[in-house]
Amino acid sequence: MQKQLKAQLDRLKKAGATYVDARWYPVEEANYLMMWNGNLKNAASSRESGLGIRVLHNGAWGFSASSDLGNLEGLFDKAFDNANTAAQRVTFPVRLAEKEAIQASFSSPNKIDPFGIPLAEKIHFLQEMDEQLNQPGVMQRVCEVIFMRKQIIFLDTEGSEIEKNIIEVFPSLQVMGVDADGEAHMRKFSPARSGETRGWETLDRQVFEQNAQRITRELNEVLVAESCPKEDRSVILLPGIMFLQTHETIGHALELDRILGYELAYAGGSFVTLDDFGKLRYGSDKLTARADATLPNSPGSFGFDDDGIPAQNNLLINNGILVGAISGRQMVEEANARARRPIFDGSGGANRATSFYRVPIERMTNINIDPGKDGSLDDIVKNTEHGIILDGEKSWSIGSNREQFHFATEIGWLVEDGQVTNVVKNSTYKGETLKFYNSLSAVGDESTWQVRYVDNCGKGQPNQIMQLGHGVPVCRFDNVRIGE
Ligand SMILES: [Zn+2]
Repeated sequence: MQKQLKAQLDRLKKAGATYVDARWYPVEEANYLMMWNGNLKNAASSRESGLGIRVLHNGAWGFSASSDLGNLEGLFDKAFDNANTAAQRVTFPVRLAEKEAIQASFSSPNKIDPFGIPLAEKIHFLQEMDEQLNQPGVMQRVCEVIFMRKQIIFLDTEGSEIEKNIIEVFPSLQVMGVDADGEAHMRKFSPARSGETRGWETLDRQVFEQNAQRITRELNEVLVAESCPKEDRSVILLPGIMFLQTHETIGHALELDRILGYELAYAGGSFVTLDDFGKLRYGSDKLTARADATLPNSPGSFGFDDDGIPAQNNLLINNGILVGAISGRQMVEEANARARRPIFDGSGGANRATSFYRVPIERMTNINIDPGKDGSLDDIVKNTEHGIILDGEKSWSIGSNREQFHFATEIGWLVEDGQVTNVVKNSTYKGETLKFYNSLSAVGDESTWQVRYVDNCGKGQPNQIMQLGHGVPVCRFDNVRIGE
């Protein structure tokens, strides 16, 4: 197959194409199991394979994809024709940042392939977890697990030849209950990165049982709690909400295609402009954020992006100053040209497609916040006068350019004079992105830092669902409006 693909790449190159790449997925599988109140509500499996082709010609992209590989020549010609048609309408001729041709392979770390595990064993795991969640106060229990497997072979006209084998496992537990006022509350658990692999072996019974007990206990505490006060307090975000804060107001805001206006219709733009790089004070000195695709064992580490660029660890925000973006080969060239200055030195290696039948676009890798020097969670609490600890994302609402946000969390713990006092329900907080990050007053050390996995980040039209990670510490922000 590789030989045939190479022959087609050569043929289009000779026909005048500037650049061509092919992503062949010999296999892409997914398996989704969901148990609801002890009943197996969903057990879905999908399997597909196919080929996606991008052709750059006369400054425009053409794309074609199919599961039917019976007429390779026709499929490549279709992408070429599409590029010719698009070239008549292109507003900003596409140029690609330089890269080196790479022959390499990447495999995500896993010991036990979940696709080799019998269905009965998977269901048994869900049953065991469901029993753990079946406690007084719990009205609804949901146990889910998603398995994914992809083999991707990438070839291009610049001599790249890359094979990727990726396996993902995303489990989660969730409990819901109703308080005396008839309001529903929930508490979830999805594991952070714990070891060096993330195959079937990560479904560690002991860890899941402990956390099942914890979330049912915390749900019951929320069910009898007072409501969150409406006032300004310091908010202490645990990684279970800090990852989402980072995702929505740093990650998505710093995708270069979004900054250039290519995502407006679907999920909005970004308040960040090209002028801001190198000078915008995004947060306090304590804020250092990076896009790190080299972090071991995370869905945001994939070896090579779908432009064939190796994984990188790039600063986004350095001691509070905006210095980088999440980028691919095309957008860095366009951004530099539009800004009339070289903001970006080559691709950031973050161009990814969710499947063979979608084109790669800028996606988050691991968007991380560096651990700080303000000690453990206990240390931060001890130094907080009037605060609230928040955990668990419940709802999120973001301004159309990510300039404001409002998040509800599953649980809150009030802090008075350095002591945790009581649990509150209906905890929320809101803010303006830049003002909020500039109020960052404490960043927890390594002991507070967790890598959270995200299995469902949506972007693009047609929509692409992507997997990634966030390594985040406990963070405290001051004078934040809560409870409304
Ligand atoms: Zn997202």
